[in-house]
Amino acid sequence: MSERIYTKEVLHSERDVQFIKGVGPKRAHALKKLDIETAGDLLYHFPRRYLDRSTVANIADLKRGQQVTVVGKIESKNYIKTRRGGFFQLLIKDETDYMRCKWFNGAKYMQKLFKEGETVAFFGKIKYYKGYELIHPDYDKIEEENINTGRIVPLYASTAKLKKMYLNSKGFRRLFRKIFEKYSIDVEELLPKKIRQSQELPSVKTALQQIHFPDSKEKLKKARRRFIFEELFYLQLVMGLKRESVKAVKKQFEYQSPGKLLTGIYEKLPFELTDAQKRVVKEIWQDMKSDAVMNRLVQGDVGSGKTVVAVLAAAIAIGNGYQAAIMAPTEILAEQHYQNLKEMTRDLGINVVLLVGGQKKSQREEILEQIAENQANLIVGTHALIQDQVVIKKLTLVIIDEQHRFGVMQRGDLIEKGLNPDVLVMTATPIPRTMSMTLYGDMDISTIDETPARKGRIITKKVKPKTLTKVYQYTDQKIEEGHQAYVVYPLIEESEKMDLKAAEEGYKHLNQKIFQERELALLHGRMKNEEKEKVMQAFQNGEIDILVSTTVIEVGVDNPNANIMIIENAERYGLTQIHQLRGRVGRGEEDGVCVLIERNSSEKADKRIDILCSTSDGFQISREDLKLRGPGEFFSSKQHGYPKMKIADLIRDRKILKEADKEAQNLLKKDPHLRKKSHETVRKNLLKNYKQYMKFVDVL
Ligand code: ADP
Ligand code: MG
Repeated sequence: MSERIYTKEVLHSERDVQFIKGVGPKRAHALKKLDIETAGDLLYHFPRRYLDRSTVANIADLKRGQQVTVVGKIESKNYIKTRRGGFFQLLIKDETDYMRCKWFNGAKYMQKLFKEGETVAFFGKIKYYKGYELIHPDYDKIEEENINTGRIVPLYASTAKLKKMYLNSKGFRRLFRKIFEKYSIDVEELLPKKIRQSQELPSVKTALQQIHFPDSKEKLKKARRRFIFEELFYLQLVMGLKRESVKAVKKQFEYQSPGKLLTGIYEKLPFELTDAQKRVVKEIWQDMKSDAVMNRLVQGDVGSGKTVVAVLAAAIAIGNGYQAAIMAPTEILAEQHYQNLKEMTRDLGINVVLLVGGQKKSQREEILEQIAENQANLIVGTHALIQDQVVIKKLTLVIIDEQHRFGVMQRGDLIEKGLNPDVLVMTATPIPRTMSMTLYGDMDISTIDETPARKGRIITKKVKPKTLTKVYQYTDQKIEEGHQAYVVYPLIEESEKMDLKAAEEGYKHLNQKIFQERELALLHGRMKNEEKEKVMQAFQNGEIDILVSTTVIEVGVDNPNANIMIIENAERYGLTQIHQLRGRVGRGEEDGVCVLIERNSSEKADKRIDILCSTSDGFQISREDLKLRGPGEFFSSKQHGYPKMKIADLIRDRKILKEADKEAQNLLKKDPHLRKKSHETVRKNLLKNYKQYMKFVDVL
């Protein structure tokens, strides 16, 4: 093979995929769906898993509940009618025994897809119903010779469209074989040699060959490690560069001292700060008095007392004659912050204003003028604050509350607002350290790892619909004793309309059939501001007994008298979301009760809900949530702007992440602007492939 290398055509990574032999315009078009446009992209389309003989289970040895790979020949395929509909079934056979695979939907497609006699690999969890079976298993057709030679077989992700053009997993295998046979690959080495040597990583060429055609498990492992490292290395470089870009900006303002206002507010607090709160306030003050701009994240569980920390930071800015802004994710929360802050700063000569979307024009104009003239000291608002043409002349501090609801915020959006302000971000979604390194790698992090001692705890119970009557009776009794309650309905973006209807109907039902004697009100995000305010105000004043709402109350709402929360369809939420929700109860003297109603029970749902019932530690819950859902799903729901990973997994690969981070920071230390000749490729790759994350990096 080696003497032929010289006669091979060179395939440069920049070549348009359609001009690769075996691709062509139609497939090229479909490949775009997978973000594959160049030869380089195609070669970086890595197998999503591998099949090797030693990990394939014999049907005769299967056990219930096992996660397995089974490879078998299709003996027969059938559509089986039942009273409730029907399902598509494959009978498969390996050298040891027979088993079934079943699909309850997509039967027509399945009929066409499989042929008798074909060899297919199936992946899934073993169930037992009159024999072993797999329900809706993942599958991949396999060439028989591949299995027989005992090689490791790569399995690729594909799309329905590509499958129609014979680019299923098998098609990809064929295509790659052709590419490696016909061409000599010319792909840029994206990792500096020194790093490759110190990390003992194979070259890109070797690694590409091995990741698509592994010679052995060891070589495959090395190849995968190289690409995982590469991906994480670049992410950490981006984070490091962002951090440096922020640090390089010098403040255009200066604080003389923490100021009298801080003491004023501090002395008026009805409680003593926890040690953790004190420590974090100190850390913030260190940043504020430094001449580099602050970019700090404060993470702390629900109820750990982040608001007061934010207020004290704001007091420093205002006490020095500047303005501070607090941004909240919902109008309800902004309104509540506004009321609280007015209360906390009463008689201290501070002008607090509220700026949200739906205000009257005249009112709005007056507020804007006050802001522009530095007559408003503390501005509370929603993201209307940054989207609008709001000019805040002497703004030196921006606080973003409940950051996880905004997604990863671009600092740059805030910079134009004032004097290149300090930024303080608050979040109640604690994540493991290694993950925050990537997600918040451009920020300094403070953790409030202590919750103020409270009399009331939160008791969480899982309930099936048939016991609801009891729950309602209990609720009614508590209301009789003077308490208030929440009933929460899920509202998921994808099914917003139907969810809203369910909430409305639920409200009607409760109002007319269950709690006829009580005052109920409905609250959801689609209501007008004025209405929302009215409802919230009435609820805070105790005029409403039961607040039926969608998840708009998830963050921040604080009514110590509301002590019961009933969460409908608890199986539909993220764990952290429920944890946030239940943080609304147990805020007073007595225990709070959170009832999780499980409507569609499944193994997974049970497991998730049980975690909530067994712990109230937000860090643990988010770790478990992450484990159960995987980083992709965990972050995709709200953390927009979070980088999509090709091959790395932040949890599984945390060791590699540490190494990658070390090398990235090391490199930046030696060459902060990536000017060295040996780093030219790195620099070029960052500017080309990481554009969206490099928006505010200005040190290159
Ligand atoms: P979160 O961190 O969830 O934003 P909040 O700032 O809303 O928490 O605080 C929750 C509740 O705890 C509020 O009612 C607040 O007044 C109270 N609180 C905050 N800090 C303390 C403390 N050190 N001691 C007692 N109560 C506190
Ligand atoms: Mg809060």
